[in-house]
Amino acid sequence: MDLDASEIVGDDRIKEECAVIGVIGDSEAANYCYLGLFAMQHRGQEGAGIVSTDGSAMYAHRDMGLVADVFDEAAIARLPGYCAVGHTRYATFGTKDWQNLQPLVANFADNSFAIAHNGNLINANEIRHQLEADGAIFSATTDTEVVLHLVARAVKQKTIAEKVAAGLKDVRGAYSLVVTTYNRMIAIRDPAGVRPLSLGKLGNGYIVASETCAFDLVGATFIREIEPGEILEITKDGEMNSTFLPKLENTAFCVFEYIYFARPDSQLEGKNVYSVRKALGAELAKEHPADADLVIPVPDSGVPSSIGYAQEAGLPMEFGLIRNHYVGRTFIEPKQSIRDFGVRVKLNANPGVFEGKRVVVVDDSIVRGTTCRKLVKMLRGAGAKEIHFRISSPPTVGSCHYGIDTPSKDELVASKYQLDEILEYIGADSLGYLSIEGVYRAVGEERKSYCDACFSSEYRLGLPQQCERPAHVRSNRPKSKAK
Ligand code: AMP
Repeated sequence: MDLDASEIVGDDRIKEECAVIGVIGDSEAANYCYLGLFAMQHRGQEGAGIVSTDGSAMYAHRDMGLVADVFDEAAIARLPGYCAVGHTRYATFGTKDWQNLQPLVANFADNSFAIAHNGNLINANEIRHQLEADGAIFSATTDTEVVLHLVARAVKQKTIAEKVAAGLKDVRGAYSLVVTTYNRMIAIRDPAGVRPLSLGKLGNGYIVASETCAFDLVGATFIREIEPGEILEITKDGEMNSTFLPKLENTAFCVFEYIYFARPDSQLEGKNVYSVRKALGAELAKEHPADADLVIPVPDSGVPSSIGYAQEAGLPMEFGLIRNHYVGRTFIEPKQSIRDFGVRVKLNANPGVFEGKRVVVVDDSIVRGTTCRKLVKMLRGAGAKEIHFRISSPPTVGSCHYGIDTPSKDELVASKYQLDEILEYIGADSLGYLSIEGVYRAVGEERKSYCDACFSSEYRLGLPQQCERPAHVRSNRPKSKAK
């Protein structure tokens, strides 16, 4: 089969999106943002930033790298004030460089504005061209700068919330935004509610964050989710006011947040992500039982669904694959290359677990098919008698255009090949994917309120316009290698 089976080393594979956070009403706002970003590091590892304000100026610190490396005590001390917003980033579009790090800051005629964005807009290019034709100058290549310009141009509107609403009027796509001005914080979710955003109470102030796991670390209490289309303003005295963008008939929350992206200890739409993942595993066991001795999770993402599978199937579960959590981007390999190095450096078969055993291996998804292909080889080498691969989501057939970094469609194994061909490629004894109906049985909701374009190619918010970007705006992101 003509598939790219080149090795992926370390972290060089498809990535997840971004996390946003904001804290208002506490003199340690920046420190809390830092901790919250640290809790949400899984949503983006390329760079991080925080912008704070004391009402007279904006203070910014952004850099490439992990949250704990970007910030030290001295950096946090240079971020004073009662309000701060933060961001961790993995580029979904835009070049991988410093100028695209967020939050972005701009000075308007009468205020300053810092913005952090999670999601992807589908008409950002088109708007950008119009703005450029109108004389606008851009310094970054992120969609977020487009929003910044649109808000700045809403000069007829008086309040910042009105400016934001006017600026977002023609914007289409996925966005969860956290904004600070000199005197208030604003949290915004697109009308389809594609990306998560929650509100919590933190001491005398408030916090908003992409995931509730950020609240747990800083001791905040969950209040509620920001509603789809909501523009929530919070002043430093704790006064709140909500206005709404025009409502859609159906929302389109990303179902892949449940399957893979969100941390299992986060809460989405009132549901504990871990419990949903266990339910996905249980549904998978009902749809695709296997005559086997053991269930083996692919850590970390396959662990909760594996537990659900094992419990439903009445099979023991063993940690047959051990993950090295300290995998960096590059490794110096010996001259004579090591067989299956790319997967081995991250996952290793636990000796003694597989000998003569029929195993069910559970993971959350197959993207290019590289991980499971290499795992099958590794587990056969470790003595497994039969290998039954089970996936707690449907075949990934479409790229995400709403903020998740997936490879292009032609790199997705399931977009080109049928089940029997994929099985042949990975070399397992059987392969079973959870059905789309099974996903919604596990989530316990109706499909019509979700986006599952990665499994159905149904792009509920539409596709990005095919408009040629000028060379300087084009992404220089290298095509990601397969694992
Ligand atoms: P692949 O080897 O390309 O088939 O990738 C499959 C692995 O990638 C699985 O272990 C998934 O947990 C993981 N995965 C799925 N989606 C993503 C994503 N957007 N970013 C990073 N890893 C992912």
